Amino acid sequence: MMTPRDELLARITSDETALIGLLGDVVRAASPNPPGDTRDAAGVLTAWLDRHGAPFRVVGPDPAMPNILASFEGARPGPHLVLNGHIDTFPTVAADRWTEDPLGGAVVGGRLYGTGASDMKQGTASLVALFCWLHAMRDRLAGRLTLTAVSDEETFGPNGARYLVEHHAAEVLGDCLLNTEPGAPTTVRFAEKSPLWLRIEVQTMGCHGAYTHKSPSATKIAAAIIEELAALEDTEVPLPRAVAEAIAAGAAEIDRVHLPGAARTMGAVTLNIGTWQGGVIVNMLPGHCAIEADIRVPWGIDPDAIVARANEIVGRHEGTTLRVISKQTPRWSDPAHPMVGHIQRNAAAVAGWAVRPIPSLAGTDSRLWRERGVPAFTYGTTATNVAMPDENTDLAEWLKVVRVHALSALDYLTEETNR
Ligand SMILES: [Zn+2]
Repeated sequence: MMTPRDELLARITSDETALIGLLGDVVRAASPNPPGDTRDAAGVLTAWLDRHGAPFRVVGPDPAMPNILASFEGARPGPHLVLNGHIDTFPTVAADRWTEDPLGGAVVGGRLYGTGASDMKQGTASLVALFCWLHAMRDRLAGRLTLTAVSDEETFGPNGARYLVEHHAAEVLGDCLLNTEPGAPTTVRFAEKSPLWLRIEVQTMGCHGAYTHKSPSATKIAAAIIEELAALEDTEVPLPRAVAEAIAAGAAEIDRVHLPGAARTMGAVTLNIGTWQGGVIVNMLPGHCAIEADIRVPWGIDPDAIVARANEIVGRHEGTTLRVISKQTPRWSDPAHPMVGHIQRNAAAVAGWAVRPIPSLAGTDSRLWRERGVPAFTYGTTATNVAMPDENTDLAEWLKVVRVHALSALDYLTEETNR
């Protein structure tokens, strides 16, 4: 009798061509968000589940934004692994600058092109296939496997993963989350910085632009506030030890994947003034200016402490108000969790990749599980031209990553030491 590992690898090998076909089909089923209508793309995925006899249902408050929820029990008790990917994509960027049709799903030079080909129809399609492979092997597994293929991720909307964790918690939280957003197959992401968004408004009298003695200028006050807010980037960050060690150990790889400076950025508070709006016409002194600040908060920092300092800075200037648009607490999962070990071991065996656990600069739906105390890990292909013309996925690399995901899920559902 074949080992479960050999059986799984044989199933993947025999499905390779069909799997590439599935990815092409799901890319051709456009699902840009906004507006976020994912029915066609979800239909491609549920047809695959149907064809393979895998149980699933579709849930969610908005019929145009279906979430696929599928689950099965293994043959004996064990931990509950949850798989997560999203079906929606960014809108197509600059369609006239693509060399391939953004909705064509063409394979050229071993790469499959299209909007969402990298972020993240490849990851979601492979999870659907993975769910079917393991469902067919359920007699040999312990515990439970749940698949969540969701809508409404790109705009951080309420109808996708957030809806599932709030309304189907018992089914979708589980003991461990594996998310397949692209990044780099040499890193497994165990933590995410958290965005803190502030809106600051300055209101003064305003006047004719020649009479600058009559009123303070709202734009000049906003400029002063921005300069003072820059001091937030010097905040001393008491990183948790596991996070600090992972950043130090992964610094070279972090800088290679995200360009030099990324490792330093990862452990620091950063400030981006995302919008600035003020003034009406060149010869009027502006009486109103609004800025929106996107502050990224690392682990070990309480976002409320940053809000308090921002309030203090803004409050020194007259006519100002500050409003928190969005605030989250940065969280991390244990980089020594068994799932990280499974991914490292399988990536080395499948592709010779040395995988490092690192935190992530940007956010994924993994944070929703971490917020609820579930260890969550993101592992995926190289992110290629995401939100740019000629987004694509290298199929040879993808098929290796598919095997790493599948074998790591299998290990989690067959080994005794996963809790
Ligand atoms: Zn994504």
